[in-house]
Amino acid sequence: RAKQAGRATYRIFEAQMDLELQERKSLEHDLRQAMLKNQLELHYQPLIDISTKKVAAVEALIRWRHPTRGIVSPIDFIPLAEETNLIVAIGEWVLETACRQALEWPDLRVAVNLSPIQFRNRELVEVVKDVLRRTGLQPERLELEITESVLINDVSSALATLTALKELGVKIAMDDFGTGYSSLGYLNSFPFDKIKIDKSFIGGMSDKDKSGAIVKSVISLGQSLNMVTTAEGVETAEQATFLKAEGCDQLQGYFFSRPVAAEELTRFICDWNDRGYEMTADVAA
Ligand code: C2E
Ligand code: MG
Ligand code: MG
Ligand code: MG
Repeated sequence: RAKQAGRATYRIFEAQMDLELQERKSLEHDLRQAMLKNQLELHYQPLIDISTKKVAAVEALIRWRHPTRGIVSPIDFIPLAEETNLIVAIGEWVLETACRQALEWPDLRVAVNLSPIQFRNRELVEVVKDVLRRTGLQPERLELEITESVLINDVSSALATLTALKELGVKIAMDDFGTGYSSLGYLNSFPFDKIKIDKSFIGGMSDKDKSGAIVKSVISLGQSLNMVTTAEGVETAEQATFLKAEGCDQLQGYFFSRPVAAEELTRFICDWNDRGYEMTADVAA
């Protein structure tokens, strides 16, 4: 009887596996079509500079408008895109689209996320160079966001890639700082222009845990290393006020704006420049 029950459980398990595999195959099939069918789009989220009180940059964040599933979040398809190597083509599309879009926002920098797979691709530096040439965007207006995971496996080739990218004139940001190994040696050995403090620390600041202390010390670390510090995931006025008081350079989060389509961001920038911190009075003080 126990044996029978075991077999039944196993069959359910197998059926479940089949379902997941089918689901994955169908998503993979759709993702291969997504670019050709123009289903990918970029949304943009502003980064506010605390000292100038202006929008300093925007981060491009990919969205997939799936014909039946609706909007699919990058969290749900970037891993698949990485496993299938589709990320290389998608990533090039993101770079080109973001750089072209940035031409419409002349005072802003545009930040683009790079997947570790893209980062390790031998052609990355050429791709970035070509995109800059094709679009005519000034290199210093492009910022590439990478996570610590790209650095751990092969330090010397990661350094070579980062150095070559820096030679093109683009900026490099370390994304999600604090969630990976966060070796301070990385900050020492690699030419980062910016540290983005992961949103989990910003969200944790209101609790009685140690996030506030960690955020403070990352900001001062960034200051002493001459790197711009950005806080991601700023959702409340209290968080913004704290970060300002601690000397953080830039703020990004739902408190200011969610990631939105390009036209909507253009409206946001106009409104922001007209009214600025009136919208967020106590951050201005
Ligand atoms: P990320 O680069 O760390 O991007 C920040 C994420 O935090 C975005 O999620 C953004 O929508 C979200 N966020 C912004 N402000 C707030 C806030 O105040 N509260 C909360 N809770 N979340 C906030 P999103 O757009 O879902 O992207 C998730 C991740 O997917 C990104 O994390 C990035 O790692 C990856 N990703 C997005 N676009 C691309 C892309 O074009 N290429 C690659 N390779 N990865 C991408
Ligand atoms: Mg990012
Ligand atoms: Mg991030
Ligand atoms: Mg993140």
